Amino acid sequence: MGGGYAGGYVARLLGKRGATIVSPENFMLFTPLLPEAASGTLEPRHVVVPLRMMCPHAELLLGRAVAIDRDRQRVQVETEEDLFWIGYSNLVLALGSISRTLPVPGLAEHGLGFKDLADAIQLRNHVLRRLEAAVAAANEQHRRRELTFVFVGAGYAGVEALAELSDLVRDALRFYPSLRHEQQQWVLVDAAPKILPEIPTRLGDYAAELLARRGVDIRVNTTLGAAEAHAVVLSDGARILTNTLVWTAGVRAHPVLGELGLPLDERGRIPVRPTLQTEFDERVWALGDCARVPNEATPEHPDPPTCQHALRQARRLAKNLKGERRPYRYRMLGQVATLGRYRGIADVLGLRFRGFLGWWITRTYHLYQLPLLTRKLRVLTDWTVALFFRRDIVELRTLGHPRGLRDE
Ligand SMILES: Cc1cc2nc3c(=O)[nH]c(=O)nc-3n(C[C@H](O)[C@H](O)[C@H](O)COP(=O)(O)OP(=O)(O)OC[C@H]3O[C@@H](n4cnc5c(N)ncnc54)[C@H](O)[C@@H]3O)c2cc1C
Repeated sequence: MGGGYAGGYVARLLGKRGATIVSPENFMLFTPLLPEAASGTLEPRHVVVPLRMMCPHAELLLGRAVAIDRDRQRVQVETEEDLFWIGYSNLVLALGSISRTLPVPGLAEHGLGFKDLADAIQLRNHVLRRLEAAVAAANEQHRRRELTFVFVGAGYAGVEALAELSDLVRDALRFYPSLRHEQQQWVLVDAAPKILPEIPTRLGDYAAELLARRGVDIRVNTTLGAAEAHAVVLSDGARILTNTLVWTAGVRAHPVLGELGLPLDERGRIPVRPTLQTEFDERVWALGDCARVPNEATPEHPDPPTCQHALRQARRLAKNLKGERRPYRYRMLGQVATLGRYRGIADVLGLRFRGFLGWWITRTYHLYQLPLLTRKLRVLTDWTVALFFRRDIVELRTLGHPRGLRDE
């Protein structure tokens, strides 16, 4: 169940043994490239991989798992038209996660998420619309508000999204002569004492310095107190006028797990054994963001929710399903992130790279990880085009929302 990073890879690695994937979408989203889809460097369709091409031997059912009957080894699936049961001999749960929001007043109404392709497209359109709104603003205060962008959550997703979108705005402003000399404000807020807490201190410090040099206002040890239609209020009392609040403060296991009646840990994840079988049923397996996966290489803590770990878990799970069952073990080889404008950070096998080299290693690593040669070529073409041509700045808010046959 689930055709995301973990589920897609398990089905691919099972090869001719075959599998049935139940997924609401017919593609796997390659999230490490999502910030570049948001900024328009990459065509959004190129950061997703069609499941039917990725897993040619698997059957794909477009729908959602809504119930599990473990006694009769079957799952209830809801599709656009129907509701029916399908049987299983082994059930793999890879249902991923959703944005972890907090009960902050106004957040649900005024915050923008950054978790999937729809979020990325919405964010790009929103940011471009802010530039149009700034041109048409009635006064200086309104113009400032339109050109102020607040990101809450300074992990990978938040930092990379901010860096990419600020590049988009910088490039787009060439075509907005009346805004060229206007000041923009980019604010990055996090409750932790530093940004990118998951990476080595020196690289994290470099990232913070680089962003600060570009004018990003980094506010650590700070949380979001409230969100309003045209402002955010921070825990230190600061009130920032803005029409853009992006929430990237972590994820939590998908809430559907609770509805499926499965035993969960205190963070809503499915606890699994080292073989990736669930503790309650050896025919039910779980991995990825929705599972609490113990790792023999890091016995002190379970795996974090990352693609790197999901992929290694998928490899082990597919092997375990095929034959001899071994415990999962993976030592992380490194971490990478881009910071926009040809800058990045990479920590690979204990070697640390930053600046242009860090950026190049990050891109090369993502390209290597992206499944399917055709996808790799499309991304490579987009990157090459982006080197020579100006960024596209059309705002397609109506995309996917046709007027249909309505009169007005
Ligand atoms: C913006 C962003 C950037 C990221 N960047 C990186 C990065 O650079 N490096 C890195 O290592 N990690 C990164 N991550 C984390 C990474 O994306 C996740 O750890 C990874 O996707 C986990 O894989 P998964 O299969 O568990 O979940 P997902 O990839 O989220 O897949 C879960 C799937 O389950 C489906 N599903 C949900 N409910 C049901 C249901 N009821 N029935 C059937 N299917 C269902 C969903 O539609 C989805 O397709 C990033 C995450 C985000 C949001």
